[in-house]
Amino acid sequence: MQLPLFFIMKLALYIHIPFCIRKCKYCAFYSVPYQENLVSYYIRALSKEIEFYRKHLSESEIVSVYIGGGTPSLISPDSLEEIIVKIKKYTCLSPGIEFTIEVNPKTLSSESASRYRSLGINRCSVGIQSLNDNELKVLGRPHDAQEAMQCLNLLMASQWENISVDLIYGIPDQTLKSWGATLKLIGGYDIHHISTYCLSYEPGTALNKNKENNQLQPLSPELEEEMYFFMVDHIQDYGYEHYEISSFARTPEFYSRHNINYWLGNPYLGFGPAAVSTIDDKGRLTRHTNYSDLDKYIKQLERGQLPVQSMEILEQTEQINEYIMLHLRLIEGLSLAEFERKFSLSFQEYAGESLKYLLDDGFLEFKNNYIRIPSSKLFISNSIISELF
Ligand code: SF4
Repeated sequence: MQLPLFFIMKLALYIHIPFCIRKCKYCAFYSVPYQENLVSYYIRALSKEIEFYRKHLSESEIVSVYIGGGTPSLISPDSLEEIIVKIKKYTCLSPGIEFTIEVNPKTLSSESASRYRSLGINRCSVGIQSLNDNELKVLGRPHDAQEAMQCLNLLMASQWENISVDLIYGIPDQTLKSWGATLKLIGGYDIHHISTYCLSYEPGTALNKNKENNQLQPLSPELEEEMYFFMVDHIQDYGYEHYEISSFARTPEFYSRHNINYWLGNPYLGFGPAAVSTIDDKGRLTRHTNYSDLDKYIKQLERGQLPVQSMEILEQTEQINEYIMLHLRLIEGLSLAEFERKFSLSFQEYAGESLKYLLDDGFLEFKNNYIRIPSSKLFISNSIISELF
């Protein structure tokens, strides 16, 4: 039966592949060392989890699929195919959707790159992080700069229509010169999208322990800020549009649709351990998070139970705060008209006094009925946004 159009929800899908070659020193994502014998159990569990959501899938229009991790390129394309076939059993993945796979330069081959394409995957996101061997060592990445460039050459040669790279700045011992060298090399490739991150020291990571034991010296916040603006200028000079605090695209066609779905606060379903979902459940926006424990995740599904560790209903204040936080990440900012339409409340009414002093002090500005963070203040966006709550 064809559902009437107004029942169709737009939904993004995230599939977590939790296996990694080894743990990078800065990484706080959920991942486990790769064990080949676990993969088939995991794929079976993922299939079961997808089945639990068949109603949501069949009643939704899928806007994007993102296979992330972990390191999805560690498992075989055949295993990925099983998952894709399972999803397609319940919903349509139209050829026009953005369908991304994250790859690690160490694990991509020309065979796997072409198999991904034959599975309908049309966007490849590569964890390059740096093209400086010392910096890659500090981060504990399993690849070196040469392997990262070989991976990009391989993707260029197989003519992927949408390639994204991740880069990190603020690495101990990194200089503006070495950051500039990485950016220049990246600027020489015909890459469509660039995501950048300032290195953070997350609790529980090896890098954080080293910092606490005084075994490394983090860069000063001033230098991190200088690196941010240096990067914004250089990437734009290489012909990219700066469309989100840390994201750049050749043209709007290459904006990350999957991330935009998050930033716009639209529903998404995440599968796998530690995956988070935010979905409309009988008119209430709910968020649930899966167990960050592969063993528990698999066992729950084998028992026929959902692997959900926590669930919350997002009340209106929470929804508004998230909406503000995510929309102000976009360079165009937050549409005042859309805010009012969505929450039946004006932004000025909600933000009150804080809005006034943030505007007066130049931390926010109005532009064409949008409110946004001026480009000179983007590096401190988190502090500015937190003033509005
Ligand atoms: S490859 Fe990615 S997910 Fe895996 S440990 Fe490194 S940063 Fe974390």
